[in-house]
Amino acid sequence: MNGTGVDQHKAVLLAVRDVMVQKFLQREAIWVALSNEVGQGFAMRILEIENESLRQVDAALKRIEDGGFGTCLECEEPISPTRLAAVPWATRCLRCQELEDSRQATEAAEPKLAA
Ligand SMILES: [Zn+2]
Repeated sequence: MNGTGVDQHKAVLLAVRDVMVQKFLQREAIWVALSNEVGQGFAMRILEIENESLRQVDAALKRIEDGGFGTCLECEEPISPTRLAAVPWATRCLRCQELEDSRQATEAAEPKLAA
């Protein structure tokens, strides 16, 4: 991937990261304000999801530094520019992501045998 493309994705990622951190701080304030257990459990779940998203954005920024950005982690083929424009923190090409999604869907659908 050429330098200009990477710079654009980096700018998007940094902007998304900014928004996430802002939201994160707001959520934290709400979480602290919630005193009942149900509210805290709910807030914790949101924090977990947002923390995961932030981690993905940070990982993408790191891949830009390392030079691995835009390459699928599974098959090492280039991720399509359209996909990166939509999901700049994507770690897999569309084909590998679909395989991963269906694998996870299968896992979620199967009952856990050893609880
Ligand atoms: Zn792939």
